[in-house]
Amino acid sequence: LPLLARKNAGANVKVVVRVRAFLPREIQRNASCLVLEEKSFTFDRSYWSHSPSSPHYASQSHVYDTLGEEFLDHNFEGYHTCIFAYGQTGSGKSYTMMGTPTQPGLIPRTCEDLFERIHEAQSEMPNISYKVKVSYFEVYNEHVRDLLVAPPTNPTAAGPYYLKIRESPTEGPYVKDLTEVPVGSLDEILRLMRTGDGNRTVASTKMNDTSSRSHAVFTIMLKQIYHDFETDQTTERSSRIRLVDLAGSERAKSTEATGVRLREGSNINKSLTTLGRVIAALADPKKNNRGGTSVVPYRDSILTWLLKDSLGGNSKTAMIACVSPSDYEETLSTLRYADQAK
Ligand code: ADP
Repeated sequence: LPLLARKNAGANVKVVVRVRAFLPREIQRNASCLVLEEKSFTFDRSYWSHSPSSPHYASQSHVYDTLGEEFLDHNFEGYHTCIFAYGQTGSGKSYTMMGTPTQPGLIPRTCEDLFERIHEAQSEMPNISYKVKVSYFEVYNEHVRDLLVAPPTNPTAAGPYYLKIRESPTEGPYVKDLTEVPVGSLDEILRLMRTGDGNRTVASTKMNDTSSRSHAVFTIMLKQIYHDFETDQTTERSSRIRLVDLAGSERAKSTEATGVRLREGSNINKSLTTLGRVIAALADPKKNNRGGTSVVPYRDSILTWLLKDSLGGNSKTAMIACVSPSDYEETLSTLRYADQAK
């Protein structure tokens, strides 16, 4: 599938595609990159990671250098940003966002770069200081769970464990009572991420569930504080970095599902469809001008409502559509989704 660079891309929205590497078991059964029919889709960028020997091979550091770094620049300029990984289960979403200990993904690389920049700035400018906080929650079945709090031991008591959403006139929608932890180093963040991932897995196995059924939202809050020694006044600039591992897109189909699975599927479908419509509306300058934002359907799903501040206005958004190199139907459906999102 030829992936072309898109012209006139909306400045605040980027859509890129990443083809993951073949897995050992796929290599074992001689799987090959599949082309059934030529189709063209246009994206801001495409990352080919299916063949490590290819000259176009997109490594984890390449993805960070060409996308993550630019987004962190925006955060230091004071913008909120949001990066989503979309795709079927097994297409490389967690690999792209979190990665592995030897091949760290966007989240650890962003955190590492963040603290490097902070240390550098502080050693050069005594009048600047920084505060960093993180939170980690998931949206499951249109409910929000705090991943930095251990799940209840009794799964039937899960009710109070869901958090409520509130909307403040200045801050926009937010999760009430969500744990926010001040952090001072990459290691501290990684430890919290592991705790969160552990809680996610524990909760999901208890409910006979897997993490592919929820959207995981990792948030880094960056506050830059400038101190004017002459006037003794301080000014602050806050930005939010959202890194989102979406539920497996194949879960949005409710074929043959009944009961709990049917409801889960239709909720995932609702949030992914709404997210697609929100991103499409934001990428369309006719809809995304001042006064015209009412057509952006944030409130149609919990995920988009919660991320409203990180998506609209002056925020920068990127969608990484992850595909596997040898699954035709799901790849086509992901490319179509990503294509219509712009
Ligand atoms: P998802 O989060 O979409 O379910 P994963 O990120 O878990 O998918 O990826 C599935 C498997 O493929 C994992 O074993 C992961 O390490 C591997 N993988 C994904 N993308 C790549 C890549 N670009 N290079 C090498 N291995 C990858």
